Amino acid sequence: MTNKVWVYVDQFKGEALPASWEAVTAGRDLADKMGTGLTAIVIGSGVEAIANTAIQYGADEVLLADDASLEDYRANPYTAVFAKAAADAAPDVVLFPTTSRGREVAAMAAIDLNTGVLVDVTAMETEGDAILATRPVYAGKLLCKVKCATRPQLVTLRVRSFGKPELDESRTGTTTAIDAVMAEDEIATKVLDYVDAGGGVSLSDANVIVSGGRGVSSNPAEAPADLSAEDQEIWKAHEGFRLIGELATVLGGAVGASRAAVDAKYIPYAHQVGQTGKVVSPDLYIASGISGAIQHLAGMRSSKVIVAINKDADAPIFKLARYGVVGDLYDIVPALTVALKERLGK
Ligand SMILES: Cc1cc2nc3c(=O)[nH]c(=O)nc-3n(C[C@H](O)[C@H](O)[C@H](O)COP(=O)(O)OP(=O)(O)OC[C@H]3O[C@@H](n4cnc5c(N)ncnc54)[C@H](O)[C@@H]3O)c2cc1C
Repeated sequence: MTNKVWVYVDQFKGEALPASWEAVTAGRDLADKMGTGLTAIVIGSGVEAIANTAIQYGADEVLLADDASLEDYRANPYTAVFAKAAADAAPDVVLFPTTSRGREVAAMAAIDLNTGVLVDVTAMETEGDAILATRPVYAGKLLCKVKCATRPQLVTLRVRSFGKPELDESRTGTTTAIDAVMAEDEIATKVLDYVDAGGGVSLSDANVIVSGGRGVSSNPAEAPADLSAEDQEIWKAHEGFRLIGELATVLGGAVGASRAAVDAKYIPYAHQVGQTGKVVSPDLYIASGISGAIQHLAGMRSSKVIVAINKDADAPIFKLARYGVVGDLYDIVPALTVALKERLGK
């Protein structure tokens, strides 16, 4: 009998994203509540190890599409494999991690399967075989509950909203091979190269994020006089982000930014947090020189602990912050780095 609950495992270059395992946590819980098994679907080339890990994390069965044509992620062949498997087996619900690939496959498969997607879900309840999903709306100001009237119910799960599962190396399950659906000559997209546009930033997976905003350009240091006014500002901000990067490194975290900092070319877009950037939920979010505009808060308000550093005591970010430091980030950030280095023995 086919399992009613499925999880789509997102992998890149043979490595599963941690968000995929969070989806397995949610899927295991759902499958137990619905009295069914959990199937993970793994698509790629040379990804058998991921299938085994999915079982060790809690899947009962893995559908494994392992084919040379699936080595690079391409939306059409991946969606074709997924949609065919789902059409054949008719699961009630499929959980996807809210990664760029997960979102893309869910959206495209919804068209093929003539069903809906519940997106960016942070919590789920069951009503029989229906999922009652909670998702933030209006930049996180409201939480709404949504249901899908059609089947399968495709659900994308917000990263870091569901816990990480425990790996149980003794767990066993079945792996069933499934075929690629599109032949190479039917696939219009060819991957020529990968270019890292973000300096290896993985904000979504970071436990700690230290972010900088427009305030970072208020660097008191003298910029080289032969630079234009705009470049002097960028030079100052780069120095500020270097200090923010040092603090992030001491804490083992990643560097984030507001859109104002990105628009002013202080730092690449890959670092942007907010409504039009990444939505993050780290254990610790340190906002420095960021005022706390609603569009920024939309991307980080679900962080477990928020610390704000701002020289304006009335900055809106302090309303959300658990700890607030009123002061100049050029004093506070380096002082924090020194103190934490000492405390953490680094
Ligand atoms: C459709 C739309 C989408 C948007 N999407 C996003 C998004 O995804 N992400 C996002 O961030 N914004 C987004 N914005 C922009 C948002 O509205 C704000 O303009 C932006 O977040 C402001 O960035 P900021 O806080 O860095 O700058 P500001 O609002 O200018 O704040 C700078 C802060 O730095 C403080 N400061 C200055 N110097 C220092 C110092 N030396 N030490 C300490 N503090 C200092 C100031 O007191 C101030 O509070 C969006 C806007 C729109 C309209």
